Amino acid sequence: MGQFAAGNKEYIDVILPIAEKLLIDRIRRRTGPGARVLHGIGDDCAVLPVPTGHEVLVTTDFSLEGVHFRREWHPPDSVGHRCLTRGLSDIAAMGGRPIAAFLSLATPQDLPQIWIDSFLTGLLSLAKKIAVTLAGGDTAESHSGVLADIVVLGSVPRGRAILRSGARPGDSIYVTGQLGGSAAVIEQLLAGKKLSGRVTDYPAHFFPTPRVAVGRVLREKRIASAMIDISDGLSTDLDHICQESRVGGVIHANVLPLAQLGKASGRVDLESALHGGEAYELLFTASASKRVPSSIAGVPVTKIGEIIRQPGMRLKNIDGKTQRLVPKGWQHFSE
Ligand code: ADP
Ligand code: MG
Repeated sequence: MGQFAAGNKEYIDVILPIAEKLLIDRIRRRTGPGARVLHGIGDDCAVLPVPTGHEVLVTTDFSLEGVHFRREWHPPDSVGHRCLTRGLSDIAAMGGRPIAAFLSLATPQDLPQIWIDSFLTGLLSLAKKIAVTLAGGDTAESHSGVLADIVVLGSVPRGRAILRSGARPGDSIYVTGQLGGSAAVIEQLLAGKKLSGRVTDYPAHFFPTPRVAVGRVLREKRIASAMIDISDGLSTDLDHICQESRVGGVIHANVLPLAQLGKASGRVDLESALHGGEAYELLFTASASKRVPSSIAGVPVTKIGEIIRQPGMRLKNIDGKTQRLVPKGWQHFSE
């Protein structure tokens, strides 16, 4: 604002704020009241009740044009959906219940309003589905592409958040859903190949479901000893659990749940499943004495390995030979 200081008050008070206010009004009109929000959009701060005996979870994640999405590849509703998924997936990985989301959005001046509206459609329909309220945010102009930051608040009963540090030798390793479906799409796009069909045929990449319900069950039933969401890739995220828990892990290649790419094609390759990012599935460990259902909240759960005392990760191949597993997280859309 500095450059428009005194002498240009009209510009400050009328032109700039109106564009911003209009947008905020639009957002506000599209956001209903939330069960877990006392005051949402419209005041200086949102006011949220914290359930007694609970702790607050807070997570924040960027969605940056050119890094996390490309406007020529990702329709705006997918960008909005994925933006909120990033935050909700973190809450899921702690076993938490989401309370409210906050969106800081900076857009280029020449961005069509319809892009923003559709971005919000994607974000708000996922919010509705998961029952989380958009309770605030910030709006600004960007000089380098669309920048969105999502903050999600959640809650968990005191002392019950599922941490990365709880894995013990002898625990089994599990994953929800299927692996590699999102990464295989990224690979195709980066290779300049056209996807057959529609974006909705590739939900794992364009419209991933954050595993909030599964995370909550794993916490309520005290099944998981450690948990993380797969945002960087199985190998990298398992490494995070191993490092934080000071243990090692063995993954069995023959049981990995490989995603199917699109409607017609076959399964993704092992590399995509092991290292592909943005899967937004949950990776968790559970004591061998726990009974872990093969499906939780309608999502398949697969046992893929075990935690060992010796640090580092190993991959047991289909031929029975074991090799070192090196974390090779996904690098998004940056060149
Ligand atoms: P302040 O100057 O106090 O930060 P703003 O004018 O930026 O107020 O915002 C007014 C209200 O609109 C606040 O409740 C804020 O949280 C909300 N808001 C602003 N931008 C967004 C956005 N992109 N998404 C959701 N709510 C927003
Ligand atoms: Mg503000």
